[in-house]
Amino acid sequence: MIDYDLHIHTEYCGHAPGMTVEAICRRADALGLRLIAITDHTYGPQEPARVAAIRREVEQAAPRCTVLVGAEVDVDSGFTDGRLVVEDLAGLDYVIAGFHYVPTLGHYPRSPDDRGMDTEQFLDLWQRSLLGIVSNPQIDTLAHPGRLLAACVDLDAHFEYGLAVFERAAELSAQHRIAWEVNELTGWRLPAAYQESWVRIYRIALEAGVKLVYGSDAHHPDSIGQCVFAGMILDQLPDGCLSAPEEILRINQ
Ligand SMILES: [Zn+2]
Ligand SMILES: [Zn+2]
Repeated sequence: MIDYDLHIHTEYCGHAPGMTVEAICRRADALGLRLIAITDHTYGPQEPARVAAIRREVEQAAPRCTVLVGAEVDVDSGFTDGRLVVEDLAGLDYVIAGFHYVPTLGHYPRSPDDRGMDTEQFLDLWQRSLLGIVSNPQIDTLAHPGRLLAACVDLDAHFEYGLAVFERAAELSAQHRIAWEVNELTGWRLPAAYQESWVRIYRIALEAGVKLVYGSDAHHPDSIGQCVFAGMILDQLPDGCLSAPEEILRINQ
């Protein structure tokens, strides 16, 4: 069993009802998790007050487990170089980079029909942004690798291209010590035919020396610590390939 969860949202993000800090802490303790990271979406530089509020609420909840207060910081869709919406990340215990929006257009795509640009243009912006993200040593972890690609292109036609880009991204991630996340929620958003083959992304990571960590991406208390998809991915990888949080956290180093 995985005894930590490094990707949990709160109701502050506006789309995670019931996720008070108190409820998160209670659920993590009930599951016997030893460490969690609260990582709400950060869409802009105005969020430090929220991080401070979450820290206070963690203190009040006084959970048994260790709680890191971090953020899933968005990639700035106004640029094509993978920079994040916030430059100053001091004050966060843990930083996940969340690549959710189509570069230059800035919307959240549900399917290739939503992409808003032709495939070649998208793939070019996607790879430039991704390689930029994993060149930023302030980032601890790349959230859900491949989720935006899966939303925006026909994987039958472009998965192999994506994997080739991930090989370059893995080299840069290893160099900058950025882990890749085995993300539970993403599994349920992938086309069924690609759920198992998603492991190929993680094999590329391991081959390049990139560490893997687990995050549920929970937006509901019941989803904290859930690892059905993540377990299926990890079952296909060598034993022990999932890192402990302490192996990747800079605050401990
Ligand atoms: Zn995300
Ligand atoms: Zn998330």
